[in-house]
Amino acid sequence: MTGMAQDSMATGPRFFDYRNGTLFAEDVSLTRIAEAVGTPVHVYSAGALRHAADEFRAAVRHLPGARTAFAVKANPNTAVLRLLAERGYGADIVSGGELRRALDAGMEPAGIVFSGVGKTDRELSDALEARIGQFNLELEEEGEVLARLAHGRGVRAPSLLRVNPDVDAGTHGKISTGKRENKFGVAIAEAPAMYDRLAQLDGLDLRGVALHIGSQLSDLAPLEAAYRRIGELVFELRRRGHTITRVDLGGGLGIPYHLQDRVPSPAAYGAMVARVTREWNVGLTFEPGRVVAGAAGILLTRVIWVKLGATHPFIIVDAAMNDLARPALYGAHHRFSAVSAGRESMEATIAGPVCETGDTFGVGQAIDRVRRGDLAVFHTTGAYGAAMASSYNCRPLSPQVLVDGADFTVVGDRMLPAELVA
Ligand SMILES: *Cc1c(COP(=O)(O)O)cnc(C)c1O
Repeated sequence: MTGMAQDSMATGPRFFDYRNGTLFAEDVSLTRIAEAVGTPVHVYSAGALRHAADEFRAAVRHLPGARTAFAVKANPNTAVLRLLAERGYGADIVSGGELRRALDAGMEPAGIVFSGVGKTDRELSDALEARIGQFNLELEEEGEVLARLAHGRGVRAPSLLRVNPDVDAGTHGKISTGKRENKFGVAIAEAPAMYDRLAQLDGLDLRGVALHIGSQLSDLAPLEAAYRRIGELVFELRRRGHTITRVDLGGGLGIPYHLQDRVPSPAAYGAMVARVTREWNVGLTFEPGRVVAGAAGILLTRVIWVKLGATHPFIIVDAAMNDLARPALYGAHHRFSAVSAGRESMEATIAGPVCETGDTFGVGQAIDRVRRGDLAVFHTTGAYGAAMASSYNCRPLSPQVLVDGADFTVVGDRMLPAELVA
């Protein structure tokens, strides 16, 4: 199977596509980017980002009080965040570093949501100082500390209580967050009494509840089940005398990584939310990450060696697990295509140069035939790609490039080995 044949099966507008046998990002050939910037390099398409961002917003914006906060951890690149801010997105952050990124990118403080299971006092203070719009509390003591810090500043912290609905998201165990045994949120059975106590604290402006059950969900059923439980909790809290004005439904919508993957569309998700939340009478917050940024990025790499192996040849590429950790972390799959479309295919194992057997991107896969020196890409790396990069094996962080039409800009600098040592 050739790269061209594989990509012709993709649906929707194509921002990474072949022209005269060469893979382009919008109107820029990837060969040109490799020559100008080197490899490996993360390449984002501004058009693809705008398309996915607008598609998700269109699916939920008709819902009452809808707010979309992009999960910064999926792609914290400042140019990416700026573009999303222009499309009406706020930010869902999980650390003080992400707070700084979101503010630097020009995100409105009122549109920033602070999630995160272990916020330090320093991070809470900085977020209060910045006047962010929403704190999602992960445990009762966090609410007490935040209330004290806010009271000391003469303000009330706008807050939601994150609840763990005890629903199996049916996703990879390492990215499931909504089961009873996971570390996130407070048990739904304990939530009403805890909410009663937190609502009495002067420093908190407690507005409702939040949840996020996991990532890369390929089915709406677990989300719907979790939302129904949260809906019951909203009515229970009202019966206890609380004014509930906001519910944060989290993120988690999956995207196709294999050509045959079928995932719910944002429109189907929006329709389910509209149906389930019709009687809630609250404003809704959404925290999408992957569904906005995932398909907008590829990782461009060069083949260093084609090496004989016991069962299949090894394609040793210059990208490694430090550039793209998902395969090593979760056994995740990223499609691999040659930049110059050929007619032949081969079965091979793709691996990076890092000294770990886990530094493998796919075992015995049918891929485009490549030779030493050829350029190739891993698809769908715009979310949890560069975001998870490390300098393991003293490898420099790869640069990031944003393509917009016929232009491209380096938007994240490669760290040179000298700087790495410094
Ligand atoms: C990671 C995360 C998200 C985003 O998840 P996606 O699967 O990328 O949409 C949203 N909310 C919270 C609290 C998260 O931890």
